[in-house]
Amino acid sequence: MSAHLEFVEKNVAYAESFDKGHLPVPPAKKLLIVTCMDARIDCYKSLGLELGEAHIVRNAGGSARDAFRSILISQRLLGTREIAVFHHTNCGMQSFTAPQLRSLVKSDAQSRPDNEKEEIEKTVDGMTFYEFSDLERSVLEDVKYLKENLLVLEEAKITGWIYDTANGKVKQVV
Ligand SMILES: [Zn+2]
Repeated sequence: MSAHLEFVEKNVAYAESFDKGHLPVPPAKKLLIVTCMDARIDCYKSLGLELGEAHIVRNAGGSARDAFRSILISQRLLGTREIAVFHHTNCGMQSFTAPQLRSLVKSDAQSRPDNEKEEIEKTVDGMTFYEFSDLERSVLEDVKYLKENLLVLEEAKITGWIYDTANGKVKQVV
């Protein structure tokens, strides 16, 4: 069973009551949120946001570095002036180290032809994964990264948060 097989049926119901086709492209709250791809996090409901109000950039861990390309586009072309970085408890990014993940990818590639294996090893060796162990420190470091990044607009308000997957509560770190 593939998850995508349910898309069309579910979408029919969604599209039937859809009434947001008029929304402009720039987010109404001039807000960009960076958060984890974790399947348990509902940004809209947990923060009381509506469709069209914010850019939500999701990636593994809610890494600001990983999100930077989207942040630049969001600020320069779509007018956002506030960034909120969310990391969360019980995050998968606290469960591995980059060397472990690289070894895993390399070991999965063992049966591939030599040229492909070399390409895979070279690529994964060149990747940064932004894993972390200390949750609060990782939020502080990401906010610091954004504040020191010369390409992030100086007037942008930048805050850092922790979302608790156990009780749905958010806490501001900085
Ligand atoms: Zn996570």
